[in-house]
Amino acid sequence: MQVVETIPACRQALAKLRQFGGNVGFVPTMGALHRGHVSLMEACRSAADLSVASIFVNPTQFAPTEDLSRYPRPREHDLALCEAAGVDLVFYPQVDEMYPPGGETTVVVSGLSTRWEGSIRTTHFQGVTTVVTKLFNIVCPEIAFFGQKDFQQQAILRRMVRDLDQPVEIRTCATIREPDGLAMSSRNVYLTSEQREIAAQIYQGLSAAEKLWLQGERSPGTLQREIESRVSLRPELSIDYVAIVDPGTLLPLEAPHPGAVALVACKLGSTRLIDNLLLGTAAELLALPTTAR
Ligand code: AMP
Repeated sequence: MQVVETIPACRQALAKLRQFGGNVGFVPTMGALHRGHVSLMEACRSAADLSVASIFVNPTQFAPTEDLSRYPRPREHDLALCEAAGVDLVFYPQVDEMYPPGGETTVVVSGLSTRWEGSIRTTHFQGVTTVVTKLFNIVCPEIAFFGQKDFQQQAILRRMVRDLDQPVEIRTCATIREPDGLAMSSRNVYLTSEQREIAAQIYQGLSAAEKLWLQGERSPGTLQREIESRVSLRPELSIDYVAIVDPGTLLPLEAPHPGAVALVACKLGSTRLIDNLLLGTAAELLALPTTAR
């Protein structure tokens, strides 16, 4: 596995790897890798001839009040996980390499980026879409892998790639969870052991809505209230939003269909936690086009 830190070194390494042909799969990350990230790398390994990952804690997607400086950066651990997952090339730039002085261009997906997470973290998604576009321009992958865990993010990136005709296919991989259902996240390390146990209640709420759905409940209000009441059993969880939305537009649905998404965001102490679940039977979800899964 090669590790490169500059854009020219990344392009050069890729040119060498590509001379034998084959397609490039790409997994962008902010490091502090866990099994969720590894699952994307494994999907990449099996779908593409060459696997590239990036590790970059992107400052432009953090608000000044957020956790940029304390975001974990365990370099050796991360590189060991990439190597074990069969990554061929890791792009590991510093901030100056990605954002030299004088930059004036950003990429904004206007509508989708203002909803849900975007209404709370107002500059977050333009940071994401700009850095992902830059990374796509550096790596030029045929396929890129993102987690369903960050549902709104993958929906925005799908829209960006479509609107800008970026020549890359977005694949969304299932959320990897802890045994008690908590979605894995680099930010879970911020939780105390007591908070860590409380956080599992978010998945309890989503699972309860899924159970109602499978019993035939289709009222978005009822499904939403089920999630809210289950999550509220732990008063330490302060709900930012719960919604039943269309997977493409992220707009609330009056008559949810299979593939509709239940979105939840909560605060637990100073840590924000987001999660989601697709509603539908396994067979219904499998029958959906992959873009809606
Ligand atoms: P991050 O390092 O948090 O920017 O995440 C990098 C990629 O990993 C994003 O596409 C995330 O959606 C994905 N990811 C994060 N957590 C999980 C998880 N628990 N399961 C699957 N993918 C995940």
